Amino acid sequence: MLLNNPVLSPSSDKEEIRVAYRGRFAPSPTGPLHFGSLITAVASYCEAKAHQGEWIVRIEDTDIPRIYPGSEAHILKCLDAFGFESDKEIIFQKDRLDIYESVIEQLHQQRLVYACQCTRKILGSNHIYTETCRHLNLPLAHQAIRVKVDDCEICFDDALQGRHCSNLKYDLGDFVLKRRDGIINYQLAVVVDDYLQGMTHVVRGADLLDNTERQIWLGKLLGYPELSYMHLPLAMNDQGQKLSKQNMAQALDPAQASVLLSDAITALGQPAVELDLPDRMLIQAVAQWDRKSIPQGTEIQAVFL
Ligand code: GLU
Repeated sequence: MLLNNPVLSPSSDKEEIRVAYRGRFAPSPTGPLHFGSLITAVASYCEAKAHQGEWIVRIEDTDIPRIYPGSEAHILKCLDAFGFESDKEIIFQKDRLDIYESVIEQLHQQRLVYACQCTRKILGSNHIYTETCRHLNLPLAHQAIRVKVDDCEICFDDALQGRHCSNLKYDLGDFVLKRRDGIINYQLAVVVDDYLQGMTHVVRGADLLDNTERQIWLGKLLGYPELSYMHLPLAMNDQGQKLSKQNMAQALDPAQASVLLSDAITALGQPAVELDLPDRMLIQAVAQWDRKSIPQGTEIQAVFL
């Protein structure tokens, strides 16, 4: 059904559909890029290019209150300084809200979503939603929108982390696609755009591993093809915390691009590349890329930044 809808179908360009590998780097501008983001950029890029595939940058900026001033410009500046070039025009999710709204409308017509008026106070510390509003048939406006989940096991085989499974009904319950304040949730936007942009592979940090079953479930409801997943081990700081915006990971310095790129490549277990202009270093990194050498597990311990 979706394929007849020009807004909700991937480009009808035949060449687009034929691409065997299309990957992406999809940062959220909730803080400047740090070394952990660089690892994701390098790995997603090298995986795509080593498969003769395409690599596309997408800015995931639907969560407007969490956007950190200046971080979008920093992300774009760093990508340029580090030699990364998106194979397609960079898209910004905040320009695509009408698309996500139309997907919610489609799911509503199929009775797969519903409005939920539960406040945080009502939900309390219970992390599993107990379907309180599922049968109330509330109007959608000004309420959170939840998608129904079934009692079934969803599994995927991650290229680095092995097999992962979740029964969303018992692990999470019906989950939110749109918040009461109107913000489109990451889970919805990422699934819709991965489909519309014709992505085939997702390479990202292991902090997102637990989101994957939700995204697979949504993709199934929408009739989208399945993606392949690779969740990278996370770079840790000297306190044993993952590098993140929350624990003030240092912003990448574009003036240090070659050295930082070299560090990211070796942190990924790859052979060293000669210090050079970043774009030439990336060519060498792609030529030497060996996914089997990426450190096992969900953490890279040796990175102290
Ligand atoms: N936008 C997400 C982040 O910056 C990544 C989304 C993804 O790769 O699926 O953490």
